[in-house]
Amino acid sequence: MDCFVGISGCEYAFESILHGQDGKMVIKYDDNGNIVEKYYETEPISGNDVYLTIDIDIQITAEDALKSSIDGIDSANAGAITAIDPNTGAVLAIASYPTYDLTQYSNEEYYNSLLEDENTPMLNRALQGVYAPGSTYKIGVSLAALELGDVNTETQCTCTGRYDALHRPSCNGVHGAVDIYTAIQESCNIFFYSIGERLSIEPITQFTQKLGLGAKTGIELSERVGTVAGPEFRKENKLEAWAQGDDLSAAIGQADHGYTPLQLSVYMSSIVNGGTRYSAHILDSVRHFYTKDIISSYEVSVADRVSFTSENHRILIDSMGRVVSENNEVKRYFKNVGVSVGGKTGTAEVNGQEDNALFCGFAQLEAPKIVVTCIIEEGVHGYYASEPAAKVMEKYFEKYK
Ligand SMILES: [Zn+2]
Repeated sequence: MDCFVGISGCEYAFESILHGQDGKMVIKYDDNGNIVEKYYETEPISGNDVYLTIDIDIQITAEDALKSSIDGIDSANAGAITAIDPNTGAVLAIASYPTYDLTQYSNEEYYNSLLEDENTPMLNRALQGVYAPGSTYKIGVSLAALELGDVNTETQCTCTGRYDALHRPSCNGVHGAVDIYTAIQESCNIFFYSIGERLSIEPITQFTQKLGLGAKTGIELSERVGTVAGPEFRKENKLEAWAQGDDLSAAIGQADHGYTPLQLSVYMSSIVNGGTRYSAHILDSVRHFYTKDIISSYEVSVADRVSFTSENHRILIDSMGRVVSENNEVKRYFKNVGVSVGGKTGTAEVNGQEDNALFCGFAQLEAPKIVVTCIIEEGVHGYYASEPAAKVMEKYFEKYK
């Protein structure tokens, strides 16, 4: 029996549930080739229905908002967005751009054009796209530094626009006296270079990996695990040895760090919910094909726990609140969300290209309900990636007042 089998994505992941069981038909002919008898030796059984956690309204908003932002930036052609519930790991929306028309998928000419497209429309960037996290990584660095006692709210450094040691890397501005709140709000590199130099990257990645960066998210679909920057990765892959200067770039989310948009959402969720890393999932329930009765429901699962103090949790929430409320380039996009929003922008360097734009945020500040990550390849400014995220949050709070 010929069946259409999903080759990727949900149909593939849930094939065994959706498929049911083929029947076996017996057909008997007479000497002239006429059918004289036809019956099922085994009756076919319908597959069950799979219900997903995807919220169709949020999904449509995410797809439209992502496309519209990418279309508005000259150098940008691709990106991804994910929205999850930070208290369960349920995926509410997941979109990648460019995408393709599933109804034309079996047309050979169309399929070949997808293969040849340099913007790789068949790549699901939300799960398979691996990106430097840029400054979105600074939240994990802050948490590690606070918990390890390397910084506290009294810690200050002076930003003159350049770091005064090693290869003297630069900042994105001249920020003067900077503490952890302003370092996060202004995304001051100097503050984070100094953490990187003092701690080196390994104690930091121990935290960020437990939070979800460089770990499987748990989603039922095929995903990449990414790359945790550090001496170990270099050694394993026979690359240039890790140098002290690399600790500095790694502390601002560059060097070899590479993570997927969904991983960033899981990481941010683990931070804002107070330290629980929930497995990401899109399976909500399996229901009977005819009656729609629930046969089984997904049970929320904890992948890991990271313990940190409520004081340090508060510092991060407040600082990320300031990123949105105190920076005009970011703030303008969130004015219609209706609740307080926190987050972190990132502008990540990519060799030979315009910078990638990232935003990873949550709402509301007290008791977050949604975490949204957006990445726009060659999106130039981090805050451009906050626009689609804002639209998704706006839709969410309009729907679930
Ligand atoms: Zn600075």
